[in-house]
Amino acid sequence: MRYQELSYWLSTVDEPLTPRPPLGGDADADVVIVGAGYTGLWTAYYLALADPTLRITVLEAEIAGYGASGRNGGWCSALFPTSLPALARRHGRDAALRMQRAMQATVREVGRVVAAEDLDCDWHLGGTVTLARSAAQLGRARAEVAQAHAHGLTADDLVLLDAAEAAARCAADGVRGGTYTPHCAVVHPARLVRGLARAVERRGVTVHERTPVTAIRAGAAVTPAGAVRAPVVVRATEGYTPGLPGQRRVVAPVYSLMVATAPLPEETWARIGLAERETFSDHRHVIIYGQRTADGRLAFGGRGAPYHFGSRVRPEFDREPRVFAALRRTLGELFPALGPQVPVTHTWGGPLGVARDWSASVGLDRATGLAWAGGYVGDGVATTNLAGRTLADLILGADSDLTDLPWVGHRSPRWEPEPLRWLAVNAGLRVMLSADRAELRTGRSARRAAVFQRLLGH
Ligand SMILES: Cc1cc2nc3c(=O)[nH]c(=O)nc-3n(C[C@H](O)[C@H](O)[C@H](O)COP(=O)(O)OP(=O)(O)OC[C@H]3O[C@@H](n4cnc5c(N)ncnc54)[C@H](O)[C@@H]3O)c2cc1C
Repeated sequence: MRYQELSYWLSTVDEPLTPRPPLGGDADADVVIVGAGYTGLWTAYYLALADPTLRITVLEAEIAGYGASGRNGGWCSALFPTSLPALARRHGRDAALRMQRAMQATVREVGRVVAAEDLDCDWHLGGTVTLARSAAQLGRARAEVAQAHAHGLTADDLVLLDAAEAAARCAADGVRGGTYTPHCAVVHPARLVRGLARAVERRGVTVHERTPVTAIRAGAAVTPAGAVRAPVVVRATEGYTPGLPGQRRVVAPVYSLMVATAPLPEETWARIGLAERETFSDHRHVIIYGQRTADGRLAFGGRGAPYHFGSRVRPEFDREPRVFAALRRTLGELFPALGPQVPVTHTWGGPLGVARDWSASVGLDRATGLAWAGGYVGDGVATTNLAGRTLADLILGADSDLTDLPWVGHRSPRWEPEPLRWLAVNAGLRVMLSADRAELRTGRSARRAAVFQRLLGH
């Protein structure tokens, strides 16, 4: 497989992506981690830092960064898939606010490690601007700021922008206002994950690539070449989790797809803005997300690709010409300065993991030694770091501020069996896509979408 072709990011990592040696046979470790994305590698990193004597082995089916960690939009943000009000309803206002503050600190922590480990990943803390381009979107922007402030956040965390302020950051067509938060950095995601893999190796962690795990059980991760026996086994497989025995309904793999333009001339950037390399989005229902890359491209993505029956994950699902065309069209609508032929040079995609109640979680079952983290939806770049630090504390038995956060030990319900799962996820997606189209056409809020979001537990 040509791993470089999996994303624009993996094609620009300055290394040949030659797989590390696979597991050769049975082995022993203190902790075995399944999956070398951010979750697995951050966990290994903080464990090795806290106890350099620990024998830590990471088993990866392909190469480090093969999954979403090597393909994402590069928003290292304080976004958490469960909203602040939903967290407050479930766990109380204080716990919800602690979770949000922990996410904000996590963005800074990733930046600290990037500097400390000299991870060459174009990190830049420029915040996020989320545009409102219709009356309905403006209503949602206002509501979001009011809700955030009612739950303890301040103007230093999230502010409402008027049309001129929003356009000064990101001069998209038809901007009527928006919101801005400073709690987000842009990153070259594949350089981050590949740099992390090297950082953990420097600290004595063993990483085996091209080593698919066929079963996880108490005390071992099993592969065709042999088993790694360890008292603690960490599942860090996110969107690929349903491929493991017994885990079919733990998360639904939902695809997010991206395009990247050619490097844009300075005069185009002068018209678009994003001078601080702010990540950008708008207040529609079906998420879109973009960043100005360090080499002057727009990298832009969105959901909208179908969920595949039986939670299947296949390389061919990464490519959905209809969605790429829609992304290109949306970019052209947002930024007429790109001209009638938006100069797209790369297209790619990948699966992310959605839990039935839209709640990310992290935990360790002390009785079995089985640990997990995931269900980040599209907000895993920073959250995985919090997960890694939390798992390290749980595994080492340290009671900390992190182990007390409300997502620790949370067990999401399983997804419905098929065909219900397929019907629900795809029907929800269709309703929200058509609501976004209607809102941009009429300016009025489409209530059906909100109803469906609630039904899907979002
Ligand atoms: C297109 C796209 C855009 C996104 N944009 C953003 C964004 O801008 N900001 C944000 O915060 N989040 C974003 N996300 C989500 C984010 O990328 C993920 O939440 C995060 O990377 C999850 O990291 P992970 O390590 O848990 O999972 P992954 O990175 O998916 O890693 C899982 C690893 O496990 C391996 N694996 C799976 N099964 C096995 C097995 N049986 N044996 C061995 N290894 C196995 C896989 O090969 C893979 O390398 C995006 C996701 C996608 C797909």
